[in-house]
Amino acid sequence: MSNTYDVIIAGGGMVGASLAVALADLPLRIAVIEPLPLGSEAQPSFDERTIALNAASRVIFQTLGVWPGMAADAAVMRSIHISDQGRFGITRMQAADYGLPGLGYVIPTRSVGQALFQRIEASNRIDFICPASLSELAWTGDDSVDVTLDDGRSLRARLLVGADGARSQVRTAMGVEADLHDYGAKAIVSSVATSRAIDGRAFERFTATGPIALLPGPHERCVLVWTRPVEDADELVSQDEAEFLTRLNADFGRRLGRLHALGRRQAYPLYRVMARRLVGPRSVLIGNAANNLHPVAGQGFNLGLRDAATLAEIIADACAEGQGMGDAARLAGYARRREADRRAVAGMTHGLIQLFSNHTPGLRSGRNLGLLTTDLLPGLKRRMAVRSTGFAGQPPRLARGLPISTHEPQVVS
Ligand SMILES: Cc1cc2nc3c(=O)[nH]c(=O)nc-3n(C[C@H](O)[C@H](O)[C@H](O)COP(=O)(O)OP(=O)(O)OC[C@H]3O[C@@H](n4cnc5c(N)ncnc54)[C@H](O)[C@@H]3O)c2cc1C
Repeated sequence: MSNTYDVIIAGGGMVGASLAVALADLPLRIAVIEPLPLGSEAQPSFDERTIALNAASRVIFQTLGVWPGMAADAAVMRSIHISDQGRFGITRMQAADYGLPGLGYVIPTRSVGQALFQRIEASNRIDFICPASLSELAWTGDDSVDVTLDDGRSLRARLLVGADGARSQVRTAMGVEADLHDYGAKAIVSSVATSRAIDGRAFERFTATGPIALLPGPHERCVLVWTRPVEDADELVSQDEAEFLTRLNADFGRRLGRLHALGRRQAYPLYRVMARRLVGPRSVLIGNAANNLHPVAGQGFNLGLRDAATLAEIIADACAEGQGMGDAARLAGYARRREADRRAVAGMTHGLIQLFSNHTPGLRSGRNLGLLTTDLLPGLKRRMAVRSTGFAGQPPRLARGLPISTHEPQVVS
């Protein structure tokens, strides 16, 4: 095995593995470095969670040919219902109003992983180096970056992609600072049955102590994401099932009848991380390494997948033009293309939490009015829907159903 690659992707989680699949048909040598195999209990990306993929992410996976491998485990989300506990204002979004079969799809992250890894394993252009993690980076020349692994191996790449999560080592080695906000909260994730059928409807209910999301899950179960202050979340996770369900039913209300038959509970600490810069010499950040968001709007992976799809397009263009993909002008182009989307999605997500965690009376009635107004104003609702389905601004080609390369690729010398 030669140690020289066109692209090295540090991190084979949801976003890094998606990028590898997007690049698999280009005439490139690719390495993915990942400390934990797909089936490992400790794998942070492909774990117990069931997440919401938006409509654009589904198109990206469909265009890459991996959607059929995961579709059987996906439940369609035909509408979203947003409410504020104790207030009558609500807003509803329906896929049919925007000509879409679904606003999104709820799917276990492990199913996404299996479909992606089938493609990675079938490719003779991708070396999946696992278990291994990045230990040191060095920029010895202008046209490559040297990567040392924890087992002492040395690799060289024209482009290094940091897809190694919110605590990205690549980001640190690139000298990129990040803005951190600790929400002082945890998201409790589980599955639950409902006495009234959820029938493709997703519910987001804001309460005084944090939002509760109930999503239509695969196999007739609902997916629960319940955000609570840290101590409260820890207590809820350790309570017995009956006590937990009593509190959940009280906070969520009766829209779906009685919530019962709770699944396994898992709690995730919530913080936002925004890298101040996305690119450096021969290096670039994608996914959580670039932007780690609160899960309230279910946008983190969707945003990261658009990072991967945009970067794949830029690399494909470099291949088509017979040029190196890691030069500064191309990477600056990636950063420019991602800026508006990441700012808007991160702003919307953070804004929702700030707005709904404020309990001053004037603001509460204001947001009640806001929900009502949003429901009544089709233009405003359409803008929200376009943003949350992932089609705002200039979506990457893959999200428009087009192949990443519009030209015949050339072998890069
Ligand atoms: C409770 C919860 C619910 C969520 N729900 C949704 C949702 O509904 N919709 C949505 O879009 N998003 C959701 N998200 C966000 C989503 O999970 C993340 O955006 C997504 O996991 C990011 O993937 P990633 O590959 O960038 O990073 P990660 O998932 O963190 O993966 C990073 C990978 O890098 C590897 N790694 C770590 N260190 C190194 C190293 N030194 N060298 C090499 N590799 C390394 C790790 O092992 C891992 O495989 C949710 C998040 C949470 C916490």
